Amino acid sequence: MIDMIIQDGNQYTMNTYKRIPVAFTEGKGCYLTDTEGNTYLDMIGGLGACGLGHSHPAFTNAVKDQVEKLVHVANIYWIKEQVELGKLLVQNSFGDKAFFCNSGAEANEGAIKLARKYSYKKYGEGRNEIIAMTTSFHGRTLGTLSVTHNKKYQEGFGPIPEGFKFSTFNDIDDLKAAISEKTCGIMLEPIQGEGGVTPAEEGFLKEVKNLCEEKDILLIFDEVQCGIARTGKLFAYENYGIEPDIMTIAKALASGFPIGAVIAKDKAAEAFSPGDHGTTFGGNPLASAAALGTMNYILQKKLWEKVQDKGKYFHDQLQHLIIKYPWVKKVKGKGLMVGLELEFEGASIVEKAFHEGILINCTAGRVLRFLPPLIIEKEDIQKTVEILDKIFQELEV
Ligand SMILES: *Cc1c(COP(=O)(O)O)cnc(C)c1O
Repeated sequence: MIDMIIQDGNQYTMNTYKRIPVAFTEGKGCYLTDTEGNTYLDMIGGLGACGLGHSHPAFTNAVKDQVEKLVHVANIYWIKEQVELGKLLVQNSFGDKAFFCNSGAEANEGAIKLARKYSYKKYGEGRNEIIAMTTSFHGRTLGTLSVTHNKKYQEGFGPIPEGFKFSTFNDIDDLKAAISEKTCGIMLEPIQGEGGVTPAEEGFLKEVKNLCEEKDILLIFDEVQCGIARTGKLFAYENYGIEPDIMTIAKALASGFPIGAVIAKDKAAEAFSPGDHGTTFGGNPLASAAALGTMNYILQKKLWEKVQDKGKYFHDQLQHLIIKYPWVKKVKGKGLMVGLELEFEGASIVEKAFHEGILINCTAGRVLRFLPPLIIEKEDIQKTVEILDKIFQELEV
């Protein structure tokens, strides 16, 4: 069956992804089954979207109940589930207000618009520049391409919207030099995902926060990948003891169901008036119910505490590989957002792992990336490390 899917896929769908030749038909917990009946341990969890793994009852029951009641109404009416979700997110974060959309990139678009509008209302025209970080990733829309550092994502799509610049990640002096009277926002991932699973340094973030307060610049954290219990806290900013003015979330918010959100302090949120921003699907009853089912479970179980424990176990296990193989450079990340940096390109290891029944990914060329479901058991972490060990042993380096 897979051959037919690939053949039709090449014929009928746009060639935008380099795909591994497999298609899945079912998922349960941390395991996926493909069209040929093979099972795989999912250590990449839909690139971090499947926080509760696959077919988790907290998620599926919420969706089943809602899909039979009401799926969609326009945002020209109040939506009970959306309001409940907003309340839940606000009560469990730094924020005062939420806005819902359908993806990470869309959430970042909303955050950029909000920062600009805040500045426009307070200071008038011209103070509209957003500073982003080198090796950042914020999405694929034209607006978010402007804040995505890697030029390969922008090539051929110009002109890209203006009013953005880049400053070296974790370098406060470079940021100070980049800030001008035109700066209205600083946008960064507290832990960079696509850029190589690289955490911001605590001292750096604290200084960024101070600079923002001093100059009335809005601090935007993109927690699309690192939020929702992934790093051992409900939100990654909690690891740093500081709060942003605006935060974007998406991926694991509804266990893989498409939804995104912009969370903001009142100070920033008040810049939006009716008509300033909107979306047809954003925060509709079904998407909101999917997120409510997911978030209520995460909060009730305090899942981030278990993530700390399992993340530590994973990091410790991977350390053994560093000791054993000199070309394995370091373990990166936090909690269950884990990178293993190699001295060479990791694509062939991703392929070998796939043949051993483990789904992983490689980012920034040389960093093997793991974003397993947050509910993963230590046995499956151990299994992953054992298989990596076996693959590494057989490599001729
Ligand atoms: C995945 C990702 C995005 C983009 O999210 P989409 O839902 O694919 O639009 C933005 N920022 C970060 C940090 C991401 O990891």
